[in-house]
Amino acid sequence: MSVETKTAASARQLLSKVFGLRNFRGHQQAVIEQVSEGADALVLMPTGGGKSLCYQLPALLRKRAGLGMGVVVSPLIALMQDQVAALEQIGVRAAVLNSTLTARQARDTEQAMRADELDLVYIAPERLTGETCLNLLAQCKVGLFAIDEAHCVSQWGHDFRPEYLQLSLLHERFPSIPRIALTATADPQTRQEIIERLALQGAQVFVSSFDRPNIRYEIVDKKEPRTQLLRFLRDGRQGQAGIVYCLSRAKVEETAQFLVSQGIDALPYHAGLELAVRAKNQQRFQRDEGVVIVATIAFGMGIDKPDVRFVAHLDLPKSMEGYYQETGRAGRDGEPAAAWMSYGLADVVQQRRLIDTSDADDNYKRISTAKLDALLGLCETVGCRRVRLLSYFGEQYAGGAQPAAQLAEPAAQLPLAVRCGNCDNCLNPPQTWDGTEAARKLLSCIYRTGQRFGAGHLIDVLRGDSNERIERLAHNQLSVFGIGREMDATEWRSIIRQLIAMGFLQVDHDAFGAIKLAPTSRSLLKGEASVHLRRTAPTAGTARAARSSRKSKDLSQAGASGSVMTKGQVRAGLSQPEQELFERLRQWRTEQARIQAVPPYVILHDSVLESIVKARPGALDELAQLSGIGVTKLERYGDALLAVVAG
Ligand code: ADP
Ligand code: ZN
Repeated sequence: MSVETKTAASARQLLSKVFGLRNFRGHQQAVIEQVSEGADALVLMPTGGGKSLCYQLPALLRKRAGLGMGVVVSPLIALMQDQVAALEQIGVRAAVLNSTLTARQARDTEQAMRADELDLVYIAPERLTGETCLNLLAQCKVGLFAIDEAHCVSQWGHDFRPEYLQLSLLHERFPSIPRIALTATADPQTRQEIIERLALQGAQVFVSSFDRPNIRYEIVDKKEPRTQLLRFLRDGRQGQAGIVYCLSRAKVEETAQFLVSQGIDALPYHAGLELAVRAKNQQRFQRDEGVVIVATIAFGMGIDKPDVRFVAHLDLPKSMEGYYQETGRAGRDGEPAAAWMSYGLADVVQQRRLIDTSDADDNYKRISTAKLDALLGLCETVGCRRVRLLSYFGEQYAGGAQPAAQLAEPAAQLPLAVRCGNCDNCLNPPQTWDGTEAARKLLSCIYRTGQRFGAGHLIDVLRGDSNERIERLAHNQLSVFGIGREMDATEWRSIIRQLIAMGFLQVDHDAFGAIKLAPTSRSLLKGEASVHLRRTAPTAGTARAARSSRKSKDLSQAGASGSVMTKGQVRAGLSQPEQELFERLRQWRTEQARIQAVPPYVILHDSVLESIVKARPGALDELAQLSGIGVTKLERYGDALLAVVAG
């Protein structure tokens, strides 16, 4: 047997016995084989892609081969604790070395390290690069260094950690110990920085697709955002954990209160809250089931909850990067998750104003505007959202089945032709219409009224709705008065928004949000250009609204009779008896989590509970077949789980 196949075979055995998993995902197998055999690697994988296994499994393999423990550098102290808890659950000997330990605990861990009794140790970067710790490591057997969140070395990134720059020390002091660096940050510049600063020139680089196929993207026209949000939350998402992002602290507070008044277990989170309150709310979100956190973007870094089922945006983020990072917190466990956003004209105006009125220099403003525009393009596209997102990050979408003929189409048409099948535009393709004539009416109206008015006034003039101000200004005497009666105010708003997103119109913040003509609008006025607009689809919207209001009525009836539905989690695709068993398993898990003081998902993931429900195992060997049940979990929980199933 060659060395490779031996490594591969042992890796597969560990995957199944220890981790309870059946197959490797994506590049995992290749990475694991490389690193187990002592090579350096740089792994770029999206959130939820399964990076932990890429270093945990090689660390175990090397340890078992007598090469020593794995040392993991991670910047997030709270996460370390959970990772160690999860490893202990599967029988791996793991520990942390960071500032949360008492002197005695630290001494014990150091002792165990010297005695070669640990498989994995998580160490905070500032500690690791200290002389004391380096000396300690020199006295221990170390088989592997893993550098998690490696993008923290990038001075241009928003997660920059100066301590990370010191990590090249590892290579200098321990040149023969293999290193694996991992990150979910994809751009080539960061990749280059990681290679240089960590001296990883010899490493093999593994780049995965950054697609998150389990996330369903949906962007709706903002009408009554709270009602829309509530409808979204009640549409099969009762009892699920999620994040609702708002731009301002006030809106966070307001929205959280509103959700609580609607019987939803919601908590606020923003930088203005007392530290203790913030920590408590974050803890509840992380540890309890089904908590909805309403937050500013201050919330996110350091959240490693794998079962966040949705991320909702009530306000527009400032860039594609922001949108992708925030929505990326949903569905790390690979199960279906939703990224939902309600977006309207006011969002565009507000974000543009934030840029225009900031103190930043012109170059920064230009870059920010371009990033915002890319996001507006995503909001307004009639093509697939996923294709659009990935192409922004330099990736051509290749997922799903595509007829070869589509790939042969000219590049310009590709985004419309290629569809992911898991975004709103793919599931419910929006209609487009030739909006050139309407756009011209709007442009004339803006021009004739002197480019000094906001959307509300312009729409009144277009629709011929007179009021005191219109009369005072004699705008009812203009030729454009009433030329747009054929469309209602909502449709006009959507047209204005789309023309801003396309760059034909500008918002003037010195004049209180007056809408002005951009230089490019000349071509439209002169009849040299035409525009295709997205139709605000009343049909699709109403159909969905009707469906979910029917659902929420059913639910409120269910609530009145038993109130089971508000507390329990709704799982799509489970029958009533299955749903009940799922709930009983969940209660058992909550109890276990409480006793052991760990988050519930560390005991067993929802997906494992669901496969138990589906398989209804009657014996331990049947239970052992399920993904997520390794040898240790079978030993610890097997009998108890069978008892719950037997009811
Ligand atoms: P990342 O660190 O890349 O965000 P994790 O390592 O936390 O991702 O893994 C995300 C989820 O995927 C975890 O719930 C993990 O158990 C699961 N997972 C990882 N690899 C596999 C696999 N090969 N098969 C099934 N589940 C996996
Ligand atoms: Zn799509």
